[in-house]
Amino acid sequence: MATLACRGGQPVRTEPFPGWPVWDDKEREALLGVLESGKWWYGEKIREFEEKFAAFQDAKYGVLTSTGTAALEASLLALGIGAGDEVIVPPYTFLATASAVLTVNAVPIFVDIDANSTNIDPELIEPAITDKTKAIIPVHFGGYVADMDRINEIARKHNLHVIEDACHSWGSRWNGKGTGALGDCGVFSFQMSKNITSAEGGILLTDDEAIAETSRSYTNCGRGKGSPWYTHFVVGGNLRLTEFQASILLAQLTRLEQQTLTRQENAEFLNAELEKIDGIITQKNDPRMTRRAYHLYMLRYDRDAFGGPTREQFLEALTAEGVPASSGYAHPLYKNPVFQRPIADGPESCPLSCPFYGRKVDYNAMPCPVCERLCTEEAIWIEHPVLLGTRNDMEDIVAAFRKVRDNVAELLA
Ligand SMILES: *Cc1c(COP(=O)(O)O)cnc(C)c1O
Repeated sequence: MATLACRGGQPVRTEPFPGWPVWDDKEREALLGVLESGKWWYGEKIREFEEKFAAFQDAKYGVLTSTGTAALEASLLALGIGAGDEVIVPPYTFLATASAVLTVNAVPIFVDIDANSTNIDPELIEPAITDKTKAIIPVHFGGYVADMDRINEIARKHNLHVIEDACHSWGSRWNGKGTGALGDCGVFSFQMSKNITSAEGGILLTDDEAIAETSRSYTNCGRGKGSPWYTHFVVGGNLRLTEFQASILLAQLTRLEQQTLTRQENAEFLNAELEKIDGIITQKNDPRMTRRAYHLYMLRYDRDAFGGPTREQFLEALTAEGVPASSGYAHPLYKNPVFQRPIADGPESCPLSCPFYGRKVDYNAMPCPVCERLCTEEAIWIEHPVLLGTRNDMEDIVAAFRKVRDNVAELLA
C-alpha cells in the first residue's frame, strides 16, 4: 500500500486553504455609497486613498493609477527617462518591470539576482552601468525588500534614479521605513492577485513633490496642477482610477495591517519548521527588513539533498497532499519571445527600442545563471492567501512536506 496521496494514499488534508479576494460588507457598502452619490469619477475617494496609503507606507505623496504597469510608466516619464536610456532591472519579476522601460523607448538591462532574497544582486549592478544608464528598478520580490542601502549608495555614486517596483511589498519596511519612497519613488499594484486589490489599480509614491506632480500630469492627460482644464503640458495618457475602485481600496486597506502581520507570523512558523527538512532551503530574512509583506512564500528545492525526485515530481506529490504550491516563472524574463526577436541589420528587426538606442541588444549575451537555476530547478512558491490560514493549516503544510520527504522512495519507484 502506498502512503503518498499521489500514489493512492490518504492526503494530509482535503479542505481548501483561504481564498482571495477577502471582502465583506465594508466593500459592499463602499461600492453602493459611491454608486448612490453619483460621484463616480476621480474625486474624494481617490484623494483619500492616496493620502492614507502614502501614510501607510511612510511616503509624502501618492498618485493613483489604472494599473501598476501604468504607475511604472509614469514614474519613468516623470524622471525624464526615455529614448535610448538604459535602465537596470532584475530578470526575476513580472513582465511590467521591464516592459514599462520599453514603452518609454528605453532599454532594460538585466542584472542577476541573489539566490536567497531573489532580488537584484547589488554587487552585480556597478559592472552593468554604462554612460547610458539612467536608473535602477529594484523589485522587492515576494515582499522581500531589496538591499536599498547598497542600491541607493550605488545610485548616488553614479547619479542614477531609483524606482522601487514595490508591486509585491505593501507593508514591507526597511530600517523602519515603508517601501515606496526609499528611492526617488516607488510603484505598487492593486491587481486581483495582489495583497490589497481593486481588481486593477496602481499607485506611485514619492517624498518629492515635483515627481508627484509630474507623474500626476502624465497620468491625467498632461494636465497641470490648478491650470485650466483644457490646457495640456505633456504627452500624458488617461491612466486614472475610478471612485468605485478607490472605495474598495479604502475598505481593503482597513485589513492590510492585520493580514500582513498574520502572513508574516505564519511564514516565520513555516521557516522554523521547514528548514529542518533536508532538501528544503528557507529564505533568510535580512534584519534591516523590519517588516516583511509576503506576496509569495518562497523556498528553494535542493534535489540531491531531498533524495532525488525532480522539483516537478516533488510539487506533484505535495499538491496531492492538499498543499497548493508551484514552481513560479519557467524562465527569466529575458527568455520571453518579446526579448528574443532576431537581430538583423536593419532597425526594423532590432528588438524593441533599438531605433532610439543606436546599438543592438542581445539578451542572451547577459545571462543570469542564478535566476535560471531558480526558474528551472529550485523555486517553490506558495501564494499569499495560504498564509492567512490558521496555525493548524500551517502545521498541515509542514506535515505534507515531511510526509513527502519521508516517503521519497515511493516517488522514485
Ligand atoms: C503585478 C506586478 C506589476 C504590474 O502590475 P499591474 O497592476 O498588473 O499592471 C509590476 N511588477 C510586479 C513585480 C508585479 O508583480
